[in-house]
Amino acid sequence: MATKPSSPSSRGPVEPTVSASVALRPARAATITGGFWFDRQQANRRAGLPDGRRQLHVAGNEENLDTAALGLPPLRAGERIDPGASGLDADSTGYRGPVFMDSDVYKWLEAAAWERQREVSDELAADQERLTGQISAAQQTDGYLNSFVQIVTGAPWADLRVSHELYCAGHLIQAAVAAHRSSADAELLRVSGRFADLLVDTFGPGRSPEVDGHPIIEMALVELYRETGTTRYLDLARFAVEQRGRSEQHGRPEDFVYFSDRVPVREATTLEGHAVRALYLAAGATDVAIETGDPDLLAALETQWENVVEAKMYLTGGLGARWEGESFGDPFELSPDTAYAETCAAIASVQWSWRLLLATGRARYADLIERTLFNGMLAGVSLDGESFFYANVLASRGGTEPTSSIDPVRGRQRWFSTACCPPNVMRTLAQLQHYLATQSASGLQVHQYAPGSVAAELATGFLALEVTTDYPHHGEVRLTLTAVPTGRATVSLRVPAWAVRATASVNGEALLVLPGSYLEIDRAWAVGDSILLELPLTVRLTAPDPRIVSVRGTVAIERGPLVYCLEEADQPAGAEFVDLRVDVGAAPDAHSERAEILGGTVMVTVPGQLDGAAVTLRAIPYALWANREHGSMRVWIPTA
Ligand SMILES: [Zn+2]
Repeated sequence: MATKPSSPSSRGPVEPTVSASVALRPARAATITGGFWFDRQQANRRAGLPDGRRQLHVAGNEENLDTAALGLPPLRAGERIDPGASGLDADSTGYRGPVFMDSDVYKWLEAAAWERQREVSDELAADQERLTGQISAAQQTDGYLNSFVQIVTGAPWADLRVSHELYCAGHLIQAAVAAHRSSADAELLRVSGRFADLLVDTFGPGRSPEVDGHPIIEMALVELYRETGTTRYLDLARFAVEQRGRSEQHGRPEDFVYFSDRVPVREATTLEGHAVRALYLAAGATDVAIETGDPDLLAALETQWENVVEAKMYLTGGLGARWEGESFGDPFELSPDTAYAETCAAIASVQWSWRLLLATGRARYADLIERTLFNGMLAGVSLDGESFFYANVLASRGGTEPTSSIDPVRGRQRWFSTACCPPNVMRTLAQLQHYLATQSASGLQVHQYAPGSVAAELATGFLALEVTTDYPHHGEVRLTLTAVPTGRATVSLRVPAWAVRATASVNGEALLVLPGSYLEIDRAWAVGDSILLELPLTVRLTAPDPRIVSVRGTVAIERGPLVYCLEEADQPAGAEFVDLRVDVGAAPDAHSERAEILGGTVMVTVPGQLDGAAVTLRAIPYALWANREHGSMRVWIPTA
């Protein structure tokens, strides 16, 4: 029996206004009640969130807020300190960690808010209340809030290129909106509203023309506008988007690219520079285009998305080829073993594609969300939910000396000195059910498949579906109508572009299915009607784009939405890992079966060669690598 969504507690991270220019709106009351993603959400709840809370204490984030709350004059008042020199001595300044420490607290709070919406938790509620109190106490009477500036420099807005002040404000706002939407907790919304009011009094036309070096305030201000109806927040978000590429503040030409400040957003044809910054900006610009009804801006963003996907994206959905500047590389510069592909960049990509999906309703955006969630994002967190990768290489030579604290050869880490990725994964896993489905005037669209339920409140009544599947291990998805509106309604199912030979039926009656589009079923529904979608999970050997020099002569193994990899532990004993080759001639013999390892995954075996002799290569989902003893790994495998 379907339950109707209770309106305040079913809203998600992106809620366009009634006047927004969107093709689709987030559906309500989606749940994930079992299966692949449920297990990862439970690990996030059981291990990730509690450990993250501990790390905020140990690393000093919490202490910084408490110190700021004392309101003491900075020890070095007026003196400019290079925030790039992170790890400032706590004894001399009272501040610990890099300049953006507050943002980790906010991201964790956002994760806690979505997790409590998913399932009640007294522990998380208590932590939320305590941290919210500390944040509120640290806020200045004028609304300003940034523990680094308050403790160390005493000079707000002195160097926005590197200070991350509006970046931290953006995460505060997102946490506040999440708390308000998930549990009607308004305290953090009050704090962030006071800060946002200070921002709109400080920045914009006729005031300071500067923009923050690290975007996210754009997305956050639009969402705060959506939550409060205050148009000044939307105006400032639009200003921050339009100002990029026009400001004089990033004085050195090489900095223009790094800060996404070389060309105006609406004139850009690709993303460049620091990947996470560029992607957050693109997502925020999409929000602005949606809320202001700006088809030219939206068209520019769609062009940028196409270029990034064609020329700058790893097979895993990972983005950002270069460690230098954490940046996008040139087109087709996508070396697997030196990939940066920051976990946060994958998450930002999902956020951007979700907004483009809402704006346009195009299946390609939901396809990329799926690819990125299952591969590029999920590789960033261990199976047990408590350790993380910052960078996500597609090939690793086990045993190499690490070159930095975030080098993947060190294996996954519990936390980082720059801890952006772990709480970003936590909030993404906790809000995952919000990306499953959307609704339009005519019906419900299901974009991602997980066991549970999805529902839409249509003008003609409530439409609800129960979803039964073991996806992505198996390709059969059954959707049963549990509540129906009066008259006709359309149920749309995404058929992934890779799903050639997919089939579907309603109550046993076959339907025509086209991969890379939505199967739209328009009819007068009855409770108990059953839709069966079968996505064939045959093993695919994917050849790389020949323009990517570093992977010529290789193939990757894919099955359904999952990219696979070879990990050393699964290969023939004594085999020299780098000498393994895929026998593409014999590859139709590739097959898959459930394995009792790595939480119960589907392994793929592929005929291979080693020194001319036939061997069997055993592949695991890429996202699951580095969950056993550390060894070599590769996604792109040379062909025999
Ligand atoms: Zn990160």
